[in-house]
Amino acid sequence: MFEGIIFDLDGTVTKPYINFPALKRKIGIPPDQLILEHLATLKGAQLERAARILEDCERDAAENSVLNDHFREVWSYLKKQGIKTAILTRNSRTCVDMVLRKHRLTFDLVVTREDAPPKPSEAPVLLISRGLGTPPDKLLLVGDVKYDIWAGKAAGVKTILLTNDKEPDPSAGADWTINSFRELIPILEKQR
Ligand SMILES: [Mg+2]
Repeated sequence: MFEGIIFDLDGTVTKPYINFPALKRKIGIPPDQLILEHLATLKGAQLERAARILEDCERDAAENSVLNDHFREVWSYLKKQGIKTAILTRNSRTCVDMVLRKHRLTFDLVVTREDAPPKPSEAPVLLISRGLGTPPDKLLLVGDVKYDIWAGKAAGVKTILLTNDKEPDPSAGADWTINSFRELIPILEKQR
């Protein structure tokens, strides 16, 4: 049985909201580059402008966030079963706090981009493993993009790709693929 579950935030705990291709266009980032990694190459006024656009977009997403279908049932189930919960996001601490306050959710641990190198690095997953006191092989990570899955796999945790009813990305290589959170509790029950 898993002793802890790590959730991505945007598109996983909350419904997909940020239009990443449009955001990249607005900042001027090539489609095949990641946003935070691109920002790390900028300096001065260019960095300030890009960071402001990103933060405005993230704040808007947090204010308008809607919980993903069946997430609250999953969250209540985990709390009742005594399974630890964590958030791992490339988003900022400020926006995560806004989302959690808005939806009255608590997690045992929240790791944001201020805490560790971002996914797909395995570093933030290992930080959560240490923080929860749970070894990677007792953890499960749920995310909606391949970078979530790659971070989990690199850290040695089992992974679930949540497709939100879209075509799954075969390059993710997750242990399980689900369309919605409705399918998660049966997977956990089978692992008991
Ligand atoms: Mg996501």
